[in-house]
Amino acid sequence: MEEKEGLEHSRVVIDFDLCKGCGLCIKACPKGQLVRSTGLNVKGFRPAQFSDDGKCIGCAICFYACPEPAAIAVYKKGFVKDSKEGE
Ligand code: SF4
Ligand code: SF4
Repeated sequence: MEEKEGLEHSRVVIDFDLCKGCGLCIKACPKGQLVRSTGLNVKGFRPAQFSDDGKCIGCAICFYACPEPAAIAVYKKGFVKDSKEGE
């Protein structure tokens, strides 16, 4: 049977152009994993950015704090991407 490797650390993906730059996720993260990016998105906002230093616990507090549907995706440690995705 094929062995699949899951994520070693939880991680968050923020859609640069969907983000409104409100900063709620940055304030809500208990691990300080989110910061404001230096660049502007297509809406003229400075979006949140994931630090990705391995300290994210995958709690998804950032996801629930975000007012913009689909701007944040949280992938918990051990998450295994479906090999059929993207086909
Ligand atoms: S999942 Fe939790 S620890 Fe990770 S970035 Fe979001 S709020 Fe922070
Ligand atoms: S809470 Fe959502 S819209 Fe606000 S900065 Fe974070 S990702 Fe962007």
